[in-house]
Amino acid sequence: MKIKQLLSLALLIIITSACNANHKKKIKVLIIDGQNNHAVWPKSTIMMKQYLEETGLFKVDIARTKYLWKSTREAKYLPLANVGEGVETKKSKTDPDFKPKFSKYDVIISNFGWRAAPWAEDTKKAFEKYLRKGGGFVTVHAADNCFPNWKAYNQAIGIGGWSRNEKHGPYLYVDKDGKVVRDTVSKGPGGAHGPRADFIVSMYNQEHPISKGIPSEWLHADDECYALLRGPAENVTILGTAISTKSKRAEPMLMTIDYHKGRVFHTTLGHDTKAFECVGFITTLLRGTEWAATGKVTIDIPSDFPGKDKISTRAFKLK
Ligand SMILES: [Zn+2]
Repeated sequence: MKIKQLLSLALLIIITSACNANHKKKIKVLIIDGQNNHAVWPKSTIMMKQYLEETGLFKVDIARTKYLWKSTREAKYLPLANVGEGVETKKSKTDPDFKPKFSKYDVIISNFGWRAAPWAEDTKKAFEKYLRKGGGFVTVHAADNCFPNWKAYNQAIGIGGWSRNEKHGPYLYVDKDGKVVRDTVSKGPGGAHGPRADFIVSMYNQEHPISKGIPSEWLHADDECYALLRGPAENVTILGTAISTKSKRAEPMLMTIDYHKGRVFHTTLGHDTKAFECVGFITTLLRGTEWAATGKVTIDIPSDFPGKDKISTRAFKLK
């Protein structure tokens, strides 16, 4: 090879490696949805996809059941290139063909909700296997309401609400002395919330990669403060709590759960559009998703993160 050719080859190698450094492999995210009792769905799926992709760190796909339930108010957000039109059903109905390729993704985000129909057995098994082998999972708001009698799902989310009682496991909360309580004695239903309002989220754990640097107290916008959730409550790390007007105690709002090798981020926040526009919700969702996928967090706390006395929201605009 002549010197000139050698030099061009060297230059080519330098250029190629520089390009690779700029295009770091993106985190592969799958948002799953199709059946949610909340009127903000399917807009909420599109909001989360946009928030994640705006960071430049994530590539987001969506998998949706062909039987849709309560997707009416925000139906203009339904059309997706990769899924069929879907059929709106009166009651949620199991889609036997809902078989996302979980193992292709670094993290799965569930935007299912209360009374979502059970998944097919092989779909459940595939999801369990994905998680056990170290997959990431994020459960958002009412995703902790569904599948009350799926044991592995309950273990993965730690605690959940509605259609649950003492048979599903203890209540989990933080007492006045800051101690985590697993109340295995009290009987009663799981899941409650007071009227929608702005409320303070207190960071219980500021050492976790997700919560490090987040102000100790911040005002969350216009949401339901979930309370009295119950479940196996094993291997749960509570990151943030809020005082419920229902239970009058510090209820878990933000958590992580170790499920075998899988990492789970659980946010109870996100009832309607304004809660999804809260910068506190967005930031914890992004950081929680990155952590569930990789075990690390590189996303910064933005300068418009809410303080204790004033909410901070970003009006959503579809790109
Ligand atoms: Zn809700």
